[in-house]
Amino acid sequence: MLSCPSNAVFHRLLGSTVHAVLAIAALGFACNPVAAATATPVAKPSPANIALTFDDLPGIVLKPQQDYVDATNKALIAGLKRHHFSAIGFVNEGKLDDIIRARQIAVLRRWLKAGFDLGNHTFSHSSPNQIGARSYIADIARGEKVIRPMMDHAHRKLQWFRHPYLETGSPEPVKAEIDQWLAAHGYRIAPVTIDADDWEFAEPYDNAVMKGNKAEATRIRDIYLAYTERTIGWYRRASMALFGRDIAYVMLLHDTRLNADCFEGLAAILARQNMHVIPLEQAMLDPAYQTPDNYAGKDGVEWLERWSLTLNKELPWDDFEDVPKGIEKEYNRLDSQ
Ligand SMILES: [Zn+2]
Repeated sequence: MLSCPSNAVFHRLLGSTVHAVLAIAALGFACNPVAAATATPVAKPSPANIALTFDDLPGIVLKPQQDYVDATNKALIAGLKRHHFSAIGFVNEGKLDDIIRARQIAVLRRWLKAGFDLGNHTFSHSSPNQIGARSYIADIARGEKVIRPMMDHAHRKLQWFRHPYLETGSPEPVKAEIDQWLAAHGYRIAPVTIDADDWEFAEPYDNAVMKGNKAEATRIRDIYLAYTERTIGWYRRASMALFGRDIAYVMLLHDTRLNADCFEGLAAILARQNMHVIPLEQAMLDPAYQTPDNYAGKDGVEWLERWSLTLNKELPWDDFEDVPKGIEKEYNRLDSQ
């Protein structure tokens, strides 16, 4: 249930040589929507709304290859447009200089030009619990130097903020100071009410793609999509336990090659789940989002878990399923290299 990867691998590999050939070879990997569509048939669930949010723009990638990042974003944007989905991307401006700055900025422009929103995800993707309220607030302010003028120029309002790791500040005075600063600077916190830990699958997937191992890439995509569909089902049951209905969900995804290559599979899941994609702003009109978030613990947890404390209601933890062990093991292996 912890969110967002450490960027250790990304930063550690900055000195690596760019293997454009591998990135080009990777373009042959695409999700098989037929395989995804042949999952166990079930009665269609009742309709529900969902907002799609993508963190860590201009992208999370195992190795700093600009061609790979560009291809990922082009495919992701094309998938969103093909299905007429709205989306918002949360930016870490600290990543702009990690590969080729002008092309990284061009990725952000591409998102805006496609009609999607951008939000602030801090400059360096640090944890408020590690650096404290002052430094964290400075990191948020530093995280809008490029995107604020870009949004202004596009006549859009920069208003959404997403906490890295979903850590909102601990203990309570730290959280209160951050909340106060955000509100005073016109930011709204973007909560998360569906989190299928996609980041944990993404690095093993990049590794398979970059090594040209198509069988392994296919295997990871299939496991990821099946896990995501089961996890969405769990969140719907969790919403039922808290509110007796489907709330308008906000799903956390990341700007990764995995999601780009799986896009048709993800869209098929939403169709089977009878879920209609709406903008974040619209999802936030659901009165559920007015439930106070009094959680000030250290762990980054999503909002249904926070509200279960506020409302003093249990979530259906008995049937919550963790990320498959094999994926977790492979992620840890790559992260420790
Ligand atoms: Zn993140």
